[in-house]
Amino acid sequence: MNVTRLISKFGFATSSSLTIAAALLLAGPGAATAEPLQGTDGTQSTESTQIPEGTQNNEGAPGPDSPQGTQDAPSQPDAPAPQDTPAPQDTPAPGGESEPQSPLPAPDPAPGTVQQDTDCTVDKCIALTFDDGLGDYTDHLLDTLDAYGAEATFYLLGSKVADNPETVKRMADEGHEVGNHSWDHEDLTELSPEEIGADLARTDKAIAAATGSEPETVRPPYGALNESVHESVTQPMMLWDVDTLDWKSRDSGKVTDVAVEETSEGSVLLFHDIHRSTVEAIPQVLEQLSQQGYTFVTVDELFDTQTMEPGAAYSDARLQ
Ligand SMILES: [Zn+2]
Repeated sequence: MNVTRLISKFGFATSSSLTIAAALLLAGPGAATAEPLQGTDGTQSTESTQIPEGTQNNEGAPGPDSPQGTQDAPSQPDAPAPQDTPAPQDTPAPGGESEPQSPLPAPDPAPGTVQQDTDCTVDKCIALTFDDGLGDYTDHLLDTLDAYGAEATFYLLGSKVADNPETVKRMADEGHEVGNHSWDHEDLTELSPEEIGADLARTDKAIAAATGSEPETVRPPYGALNESVHESVTQPMMLWDVDTLDWKSRDSGKVTDVAVEETSEGSVLLFHDIHRSTVEAIPQVLEQLSQQGYTFVTVDELFDTQTMEPGAAYSDARLQ
């Protein structure tokens, strides 16, 4: 598979497919539906239907991950940019997250969508990526992915690995890829080269302690890149070409619509499994993209036939 490198080692666009990344689709209310929730513990909701978004932040100080926090931030494009700045905002930072705790229903088995003998030179491969975990819904997401036989890539924060190393090990054991999303979501462009190296190395170690191997790729927080980051990061950097804006909409239907409408072969989709609405969207994302013939693989597998260079940034594995 030929790979389009959107961002070169020095940050210059090398492909006309940049236009793809610029397309921010603000999907309207769609036909996609998430499974209704079972608010059984009643800690946040006694409704048996989907819990409304936007009423879930009960942190005292809104973190950058909250809608409140992002409103104060400088406006940034949400898709990978051709230049190093301004950076795409993959998410807001971790931490300020608190969503309802009622259990999600067990995923329905999805016979017929289990992948076997994937070959991305033949199959229509795409990579689902989930940032900022571990989160409260990560294990449920793993159950869903397992039910569909889908693989994904998790860009974890090193600081969260110790929250539940068993879940991190489970990711690796079940064929998912675990990547490095920094220790605590600092903008790497704000750090010295030494600090970048130390931050990512600390995260690599934490992940390796859980999975047995260090991450192959890094996703820089916010997708923020500059020359120093390119020169200091020793792994390839994986951005994305489909930004579901899940952290912003907190709407499963919209997340599904963006994912389904913007994806093409070789796409790398950005989600955040710290949001309940995102995890609720995934069955529909898998259903609808499966119907379009897509196969869900890890980033490593998506780029299997391409050499990813240390310090270089990629956003998709588009066939030319
Ligand atoms: Zn992030």
